[in-house]
Amino acid sequence: MTTQSIKKQDADILRKEARQLLDEHRNTIRKQAEAMLSKSGTDLARMSGADIEKLLFEFQAHQIELELQNEELKRTHQELGASRDDFARIYDLSPVAYLTLNEHGIIKKANKAAAKLLDCSKEALVNRKLGRFIHPSDQDSYYFFIHDLLMEKNDQILNVKLGIKNSVAIHPACPGFTLIGCKRQFCSYNSQFTCVELRGNVNNNFNNDIQICLALQDITEYKYSQETISCLNEKLEQKIVEQTRALTESNLDLTRKIEELKYSKHQLCEREAKLNAIFNASIEGIITIDTSGFIQSTNTAVKTIFGYSEEELIGCSFNKLVPPWQIKKQGNDLQSYLQSKVGQIREVDGLRKDGSVVPLDISLVKFSIDGTTYFTGIVRDASLRKRQEQLEKDHLEELAHVSRICLVGEMGSGIAHEVNQPLTAIANYSQACLRFIGAKNPDLEELGDTLFKIHQQALKAGQIIHRMKDFVSPRKVFRADTDINSLIEDAVSLCATDVKQNNIRLELDLANNLPVVTIDNVQIEQVILNLIRNSIDALKDLPQKTQRQVLIKTHMKRLDQIEIKVNDSGSGIDEAQKDKILKPFFTTKPTGMGMGLSISRSIVEAHEGVLSFNSSPEDGTTFYFTLPVKR
Ligand code: ADP
Repeated sequence: MTTQSIKKQDADILRKEARQLLDEHRNTIRKQAEAMLSKSGTDLARMSGADIEKLLFEFQAHQIELELQNEELKRTHQELGASRDDFARIYDLSPVAYLTLNEHGIIKKANKAAAKLLDCSKEALVNRKLGRFIHPSDQDSYYFFIHDLLMEKNDQILNVKLGIKNSVAIHPACPGFTLIGCKRQFCSYNSQFTCVELRGNVNNNFNNDIQICLALQDITEYKYSQETISCLNEKLEQKIVEQTRALTESNLDLTRKIEELKYSKHQLCEREAKLNAIFNASIEGIITIDTSGFIQSTNTAVKTIFGYSEEELIGCSFNKLVPPWQIKKQGNDLQSYLQSKVGQIREVDGLRKDGSVVPLDISLVKFSIDGTTYFTGIVRDASLRKRQEQLEKDHLEELAHVSRICLVGEMGSGIAHEVNQPLTAIANYSQACLRFIGAKNPDLEELGDTLFKIHQQALKAGQIIHRMKDFVSPRKVFRADTDINSLIEDAVSLCATDVKQNNIRLELDLANNLPVVTIDNVQIEQVILNLIRNSIDALKDLPQKTQRQVLIKTHMKRLDQIEIKVNDSGSGIDEAQKDKILKPFFTTKPTGMGMGLSISRSIVEAHEGVLSFNSSPEDGTTFYFTLPVKR
């Protein structure tokens, strides 16, 4: 209950008590006066002086008492007046609207707040029916409210709209709509009208007339807030529902993704396990380093190759595995050096834990993880391959040696003829010398010339024998810068007798100014001899009248390659044999070994060249091979 309503009740109680006091006093005085009057007259005469004196004293005391009481009453009356004024002021000052109605609902009294609320002056309100200010839609509720108040005599509360319009407000929860136009289900309250809460009770006034006291509170804002809150609540609920749905969906999506991730993770783990197994089972060492050259990982094979365990290498510079001369080659810019080697397979030397050097084949790959670059080197211990290559080289060398001996055997008669010629000349010249000496006056000058010729022929024979010895004796392979044309001429001279004996025309078409080639002379001469010998064999059985011709040609095939061609006018190689002739031990000759071409091919390939041929019955056979020029 508000302070104002409490004060009003207090004033009512005071008024009641004052009225009761006045009534009681009036009755007492009346009774005393009547008693005194009844005693006066007859009795006074019979009364003694003392009694009369006593009675007078009583009257005087009463008189004073009455005057005192009268004073008291006056003061109470003044206090009541002041209290009533206070109450009236408070009544008017109160922000709560108060109305006093009679039993017909007619306004009998109103405070300022009520006048303001009902938009009417206090005076104009008096004697008007409050019902006229109530909105038509709430009229019924209002009359039931008044009826209940009068019948039940206890406090009643009612919320109604007044017929007075508000200024139009924008509903914050419904942007774009005014409250008047809001069609939302939860915006049923139309806030263009002032809404009030009526609290009322019934009592009787001084005149014992029934009066209805009403307190009116403007609850428009409150209602408006309630509407707004419920509007917002509904919106919020809708949003929550929507968001819950969205969350449920995204939750499902997440669950699905988690499942997928789990599956991928499982697959990744499996793959990692497989890769790890492969990584460690690999016979090739796999070393990963960062751009500064620090080792990040190694596999099991690295230990086999270098002798270091993974723990001994992780975090160390990879130079730990590189001999000093190799480190020098790397220079200062390691990353650029590594970058330039990516994608190539190279032969390098590695350094084992025991200090020994191991030949390696290495290939580099580059990759990045999270923006950090790494290089992975796959290293293979090339010792075995090197040993194998050496064995093959030795083997080839042995074979080539045997083949050369065979070749010399085949050319034996020709060579014998070659040696025989100077020997015959020596014999003839020496006979001539003897004759000169036996003469009377020997011509010493002529004798000297003849002896010089003997010397020349002896040297020639010696050279032939020496070259034969060189050709067939076991030797170390070594390469030297060579003029290929001279080498061809030397080889041709060894076959000259055979060529002549078989009535063959051998022609040379050698290009001028060829660059030198770095070759093993004996081996390449062996190839050329082999090809010439095969051509002679292909020509010697041809019918007599058929032209027998061998043409040896040299030219630059490319800027970095010389090509040597040996062509004969033979009947060519049988189509069915073309695939076989370069294979070892294939021969069509009764005394052939079938090793000449296969050894020749191996020698050419060892010199980084290629040996090939083409052949047809019309054009004969051409064998040709390339040699790289000296860089
Ligand atoms: P061999 O001379 O001991 O038979 P080769 O390896 O030198 O061994 O030659 C293999 C075979 O290739 C010869 O037997 C021959 O059939 C064939 N051949 C080689 N050169 C020629 C050629 N210029 N013309 C025809 N056939 C040839």
